[in-house]
Amino acid sequence: MKIAAKKSLGQNFLINQGIIDKIIKAGEIYPEDIIIEVGPGTGNLTRTLIETGARVIAIEKDHRLIEDLEAEFSAVQIEIVEADVLELKTETLIENWELRNGNYKIIANLPYYITSHFIRTVFEEWPQPLHMVLMVQKEVAKRILAKPPEMNLLALSVQYYAQPEIITQVSRGSFRPIPTVDSAVIRLTPRTEYSLPVEKEALFFSILKSAFGGKRKQLINTLPPIIGKNKQGTAELLAQIGLTPQTRPETVDLAHWLILVNSL
Ligand code: SAM
Repeated sequence: MKIAAKKSLGQNFLINQGIIDKIIKAGEIYPEDIIIEVGPGTGNLTRTLIETGARVIAIEKDHRLIEDLEAEFSAVQIEIVEADVLELKTETLIENWELRNGNYKIIANLPYYITSHFIRTVFEEWPQPLHMVLMVQKEVAKRILAKPPEMNLLALSVQYYAQPEIITQVSRGSFRPIPTVDSAVIRLTPRTEYSLPVEKEALFFSILKSAFGGKRKQLINTLPPIIGKNKQGTAELLAQIGLTPQTRPETVDLAHWLILVNSL
């Protein structure tokens, strides 16, 4: 590459073709698909992506890379878009690219500094993709797939919206420049079976934030202000769903949080 990689944009380019092939396979891509690729960079993943025959929309923030991408991919069914993916308006996705719930897929070797923000933006603001296959830091993959007693806010937020799976672990040597951490490819498949009505959904996230945010994390200390009950009322509610006042949020699974919210 002629241009120096920018650390601030998470530019660690994937040079392991075996991993690229696994990402494409996990994407289950057909010629009639619409694929959003975030951060095509120097085109390493894009090159294999276009072999599927799908329509690719590749969104790259770094102006320095755009000209080469356009030159290399001008003859194929791909749109190179110079933009910050976090700043795309939902109307642009719908009007320019005809994205709808369930008519497209996301494939990305994500710049790590945007991982959580990007996932949240897609779930909260974008039409829902059929699935997203994402390269993320290994530690983040582990946090997303956590189970009790190691639950965390990220796991509950992602698991509420989607079914997460690990596709493969990826060692740091698969990238240039070599990053300081290992990675993993995950697939997130959106689901609606846990969907709460809008006001309950807002309450669900507020409850989780208080439960995981406080220093004294026993539920009897963190829940009362947010659910509008005193300690006795809170203890009774917890007992009804089989939890004790001393329960800590890391030990509670998604199903129990949903029962708690639905019983308010
Ligand atoms: N897909 C290439 C690969 O696998 O080798 C590059 C992946 S590199 C980890 C991340 C890419 O995302 C970089 O090209 C970087 O410039 C781009 N990028 C960083 N922040 C972005 C943002 N907010 N919106 C769109 N692209 C971004």
